[in-house]
Amino acid sequence: MNANPLAGRHALVTGAARGIGAEIARTLAAEGATLTLLGRDLDALQRLAATLAGQGHGAAVADVADEAAVRTAFAQAAKERGPVAILVNNAGAAESAPFLKTSAALWQRMLSVNLTGTFLCTQAALPGMLDAGWGRIVNIASTAGQKGYAYVAAYTAAKHGVIGLTRALALEVARKGVTVNAVCPGYTDTDILRTSVANVVGKTGRSEADALAEFSSVNPQKRIVQPAEVADAVRWLCGEGAGAVTGQSISVSGGEVM
Ligand code: NAP
Repeated sequence: MNANPLAGRHALVTGAARGIGAEIARTLAAEGATLTLLGRDLDALQRLAATLAGQGHGAAVADVADEAAVRTAFAQAAKERGPVAILVNNAGAAESAPFLKTSAALWQRMLSVNLTGTFLCTQAALPGMLDAGWGRIVNIASTAGQKGYAYVAAYTAAKHGVIGLTRALALEVARKGVTVNAVCPGYTDTDILRTSVANVVGKTGRSEADALAEFSSVNPQKRIVQPAEVADAVRWLCGEGAGAVTGQSISVSGGEVM
């Protein structure tokens, strides 16, 4: 067994400062990859980079929905650590509202960060992968890309879009050594879930434990997914052994989607 199967690979993870993105960064670094951590909070990204296994990691600041900022950040990352070989489009946000109270601005925010951000970062990284004849793109979608949920129409539409983008691009680059897949977490223990729980408590007056139990109840395993479980699926997709896997949406949700 190779102890560092991703040695020599430059991996860029968006939204890496916390939550699932931070766990993915730790996991890929432990496999030997050199990381660029991209996000909006430079201090948090640099603090995390300093704790990762291995050496040569760095941070890059960009809002993934800002085309110019993305281009600049990716160009700088490639200059410092070489072309991006592994791209994990993880940055995302989940705002909820009943459909008739979903403003055009909320709709646009959800599409911008979750879908356009994935598009822009992929466009910035793909040429280097095609030149190298090797690449891994993993999009962190959601079970909300595989099924519907009430009160999150904009987020759900954006995540379904991420899965469509994943499938289309997987076919386009199938013969170029680049795989494109989506990982679809169910409710996972991060700030996104903590905010959703707080919203339910605020709106219904129910206890935090009750609200959390409702989120757990949709998972057939009756629990919340851990960020490390999502990161492990990403790790596998980035390895040589997953070279024949492309265009897939892997649900990490205790069987909520099958
Ligand atoms: P989180 O803890 O809230 O982290 C979200 C990350 O995305 C943060 O690092 C945040 O950076 C970054 N981000 C947000 N908007 C950004 C933007 N415009 N540009 C750059 N970075 C941005 O949430 P998480 O649960 O880890 O979410 C990670 C991914 O998993 C998201 O795509 C989410 O949709 C998906 N997901 C989560 C769950 C869940 O239950 N937690 C379930 C399914 C899918 P800042 O620090 O700058 O805010």
